[in-house]
Amino acid sequence: MYDNDLSDIVAADKRHVWHHLVQHKAFESSDPRVIVEGKGIHVWDATGKRYLDAVSGAVWTVNVGYGRESIADAVRDQLVKLNYFAGAAGNIPGALFAEKLIEKMPGMSRVYYNNSGSEANEKAFKMVRQIAHKKSGGKKHKILFRDRDYHGTTITCLSAGGQPERSAQYGPYTPGFVEVPHCLEYRAADQGWGDLSGAEYGRRAADAIEEVILREGPDTVGALCLEPVTAGGGVITPPEGYWPRVQEICKKYDILLHIDEVVCGLGRTGTWFGYQNYGIEPDMVTMAKGVASGYAAIACLVTTEEVFDMFKDDASDPMGYFRDISTFGGCTAGPAAALENMRIIEEEGLLENTLAMGARLMERLEEIKARHEVVGDVRGKGLFCGLELVTDRETRAAVAENDAQAVVADCAAQGVMIGVTNRSLPGLNNTLCLSPALIVTAGQIDEIAAAIDAALTKVFG
Ligand code: PLP
Repeated sequence: MYDNDLSDIVAADKRHVWHHLVQHKAFESSDPRVIVEGKGIHVWDATGKRYLDAVSGAVWTVNVGYGRESIADAVRDQLVKLNYFAGAAGNIPGALFAEKLIEKMPGMSRVYYNNSGSEANEKAFKMVRQIAHKKSGGKKHKILFRDRDYHGTTITCLSAGGQPERSAQYGPYTPGFVEVPHCLEYRAADQGWGDLSGAEYGRRAADAIEEVILREGPDTVGALCLEPVTAGGGVITPPEGYWPRVQEICKKYDILLHIDEVVCGLGRTGTWFGYQNYGIEPDMVTMAKGVASGYAAIACLVTTEEVFDMFKDDASDPMGYFRDISTFGGCTAGPAAALENMRIIEEEGLLENTLAMGARLMERLEEIKARHEVVGDVRGKGLFCGLELVTDRETRAAVAENDAQAVVADCAAQGVMIGVTNRSLPGLNNTLCLSPALIVTAGQIDEIAAAIDAALTKVFG
């Protein structure tokens, strides 16, 4: 497509592109891997080396795999027909996708289009604030978030972020966001609640949310925002008994439950949405990455009809609706891609494949744990799995960041791309992350496991 020399492209990139999450001093002298092509679960770099991508585009996005011509065709056809029109006038794929999406989300009703996960979350926070103004004179405005969860990159999303290294240099923050404790059972001993496990731990971790609500004052808390399975915070699957209790607490104190499905949405955990594994009834759901598998930028904020009604029931109030717009919420490419993405997931049985291949992946990872003392914990749901690496299973001390990175690099050298938590804080960069496309086969699962096995032997002996 572009006939420039690779060396010219790399030189232009190094001269002018400011990359996400990159320390550029080190990058300047590096020999960057440039990915130029993808097909199915594989990508190729500019030297022609092929990789099995076990993280779906570095950040858990390309759920249906690369090179999907039917998505490209759907987007192209829509773009030449009508690429964009703002407001309520021109988005046919938007209407059709909203209807399909709501079919998959019993209890939910309205779809608000955005461009990124951060933006969708930000809009949900705005809705909570507007509801507070309407119903309680602004009093019930606080939003609770959880330690280790991440909800995006804007100042307000960082104010709702449980990963302090991401927000540390960007204060002052938006007021009214309050942290609740994490629910990582493997690290329960560090939380000061005694030696708890299973449902007892799940209940305790959820009760901790109620304690924060009581401390802040239930009449000041408007919403609780949680990831169904915490992603970048360490692939944290919720403990038994956690979600039913969380739901009960939200209902008891009239607190809106906002589930951030930016990572888990559209099949990643083997159900359409992560929350559907746990019988949760959310009031608001946000989603982004897998909605169109990265073929177009699209994110959705989905609400119940009850939430929606609060913004429409008083037509005499000139301020009484959601006073928000997103320019590119009027792009038609996103919903056109999302419609085809959803058709592929359904027609190719990718939820079923995710369950079957996820179970196989967990089995392989358990075998790896049995062989390698350095693997302290294996966690996962569907095709979203993590291995926490520790120097000592008793103390659960994290391995050095460089060692975890060395495992990732060795896997890449073997032709398998895996991820690792990128927390910039000592003790938190030790969870290897796996999230292959939902089309992954049994043979490819075994290939991923074999690469990790070999890399662990090489790095840790
Ligand atoms: N929420 C979660 C759980 C995420 O993992 C991310 C990004 O990784 C976001 C929100 C932010 O999404 P975006 O990068 O599209 O703004």
